[in-house]
Amino acid sequence: MADKLISKDNIQDFLKALETKYTVVAPVKRGDAPAEFRELEAGDAPILDGSKAMMTPKDYLLPRYEVLVKIDTAGGSTSVETPLPEDKPRVMLGAWLPDAQAIQVLDRVFLDKKFVDPYYSRRRENLTVVAVIPAEMRWSWFCGSVDDVEQWKANVDAVMYDLGDKFYFEAISEKGAALAEGFDDAAESDTIAKNVLWERFKSTGVLPFAGKALYENLAWDDPIWEEIARKCIACGMCSFMCPSCSCFDIQDETRGTCVERYRCRDTCQFEDFTLMGHGHNPRTTQVPRSRQRLMHKFMYQHQQFGVVGCTGCGRCVELCPVNVDIREVLTKMCSEKVEQPAEN
Ligand code: SF4
Ligand code: SF4
Repeated sequence: MADKLISKDNIQDFLKALETKYTVVAPVKRGDAPAEFRELEAGDAPILDGSKAMMTPKDYLLPRYEVLVKIDTAGGSTSVETPLPEDKPRVMLGAWLPDAQAIQVLDRVFLDKKFVDPYYSRRRENLTVVAVIPAEMRWSWFCGSVDDVEQWKANVDAVMYDLGDKFYFEAISEKGAALAEGFDDAAESDTIAKNVLWERFKSTGVLPFAGKALYENLAWDDPIWEEIARKCIACGMCSFMCPSCSCFDIQDETRGTCVERYRCRDTCQFEDFTLMGHGHNPRTTQVPRSRQRLMHKFMYQHQQFGVVGCTGCGRCVELCPVNVDIREVLTKMCSEKVEQPAEN
């Protein structure tokens, strides 16, 4: 599979060719909000170079609000509708590589062979994913500290590298290679430029805990959970904006004769997340909630699925209103372990 070059002048031709075979999903900016992954419509100007802040692909695959069942008793008869998403070939462009990797975490939850979520799988199973490496890395990224990013490429179908006036298109799978058929092969000088960009991505945000088995360094009774909890105002931003956080709630809403059962975002950072029907709540303070978020990402998901639940996308670092910085927390936890004196 030869790597290709797509000039930015020809990007409309690339998109038009894709649209003959696929529904194209990419970040689109509407108004002042960050770009969101949407199915492209005529006139959209998708952001394919990864240069801007964006919502996560999760918002497309697992919408923030989604009706699961509608039951209507109008006219004395009962109708039940299950509005499953259309099963059609889709291609996703413009996802930062850490966000594309986060889909792997979502897959473990929603495509687990014991239970396949039909709403998620309709959007996911026929999806070709093309990740992007932007020309400038985001200051908050620490991808290379949480995992071996070299292995992430195997989980996408292609990677587009922004080389200024052109994209270097690296096909990983046959499906990925088919997307750029007809474009020119990359020259050796382009491959060199692509490799330089890849090395910059790999070396971005490499912190003292890089390469350490984080799941071995997080401790249930570490005083750091209290430190985080003292600052945290439980706004939920860190998990709502996280590309790999997947918690949701299911609620019913009645409108006239119709009841809609819908799924919406939820987070372990909220007090009522673990509130049980009989009134007991095992996490009554912020301390266990702060602990849960990080232990789940770095320890439980590793034990359960063999994946790291954080891809170092940096959104929680950028957006936490009280500056809880996951990078500092992990650095502290790991360095404390390293500094422990050896036993005689
Ligand atoms: S850096 Fe924060 S927002 Fe990004 S994947 Fe990790 S925990 Fe989630
Ligand atoms: S974004 Fe910050 S303040 Fe909000 S829940 Fe997360 S850690 Fe707490």
